[in-house]
Amino acid sequence: MLNIQSIWEADRNIRDFAMVTPILHSEALFRDLGFRLMLKAENLQTTNSFKIRGASNCILNRAKASPGIKGVVTASSGNHGQAVAYVAWKLGLPSAIIMPETAPKAKVDAVSRWGARVEFCGTTSQQRLARSKQVALEEGYIEIPPYDHYDVIAGQGTIGKEILEQVPDVDIVLVPIGGGGLISGISTFIKNIKPQVQVIGVEPENSNSMWVSINKGEITQLERTASIADGLLTLRPGSLTFPLVKKYVDRIMLVSESEILDALRTCIQYFKAVPEPSGAVSIAAALKGNWGKDKKVVSVVSGGNFDMDKLPGFLGV
Ligand SMILES: *Cc1c(COP(=O)(O)O)cnc(C)c1O
Repeated sequence: MLNIQSIWEADRNIRDFAMVTPILHSEALFRDLGFRLMLKAENLQTTNSFKIRGASNCILNRAKASPGIKGVVTASSGNHGQAVAYVAWKLGLPSAIIMPETAPKAKVDAVSRWGARVEFCGTTSQQRLARSKQVALEEGYIEIPPYDHYDVIAGQGTIGKEILEQVPDVDIVLVPIGGGGLISGISTFIKNIKPQVQVIGVEPENSNSMWVSINKGEITQLERTASIADGLLTLRPGSLTFPLVKKYVDRIMLVSESEILDALRTCIQYFKAVPEPSGAVSIAAALKGNWGKDKKVVSVVSGGNFDMDKLPGFLGV
């Protein structure tokens, strides 16, 4: 189960791993756009995404429940894989990260740096998940899922606590949605403490499985997804995250590919911070919303990892 208590506990749990990220302000943007946009800068977090919060909370809780665990494994190669590898390294635990055969070198390097064993397996996420289960079974490793686990969701929820402490008069919080773990944790915390704060999810137009599922009233699988926001390419919401989003999230906004890139550039221009495209969708939503002059909007910039070769393309140069 997930409740406010588990998020308080996660907040105490994760402090050797995750930092309290800053809230970034821009007076120039306020002057130019007429509303207070603030960024919760998880691009500056340890391993440069919020995933460290859920990964550390989950690994610590699982290790407490079964002392003497032999290692951890995940089928996720992006920011979650990096976070799992880092936490395992810090705890002196072996880790295995299952990646597609097509994984770019940058992703392999990002986890190898922490001593993780990289295993290449097939090209589909089903193949990787199956292999991850097999490793868990054969080697006694514990599987750490990227979003559909209450310990992971509680870890991500610590961002909600920090936002209410750092911006007590916040009106609107905008949050990227992939599988929905990040927004489930944040919205559970905020709606239980300050229900008048609006929590709004953001998805790319062509990777909108939560939006489709909420509108249909049931978990719905997309046939395909496509977006520059590669951390948000989830085909279906999680079975734990969907009900939480349904219960706590006010609405979901969709943003186009060009709006995401415009937001990334605006972020660099005004805040001197470099998000990855997945982290910029919440800025894109902030920039297209009609919030009213005195509203305080916080966009969660969820990460800052990308292959450096892509930067010129992002900047349009
Ligand atoms: C994982 C991730 C997301 C999506 O988080 P979910 O919990 O899957 O909704 C968003 N942005 C970045 C940078 C991520 O790594």
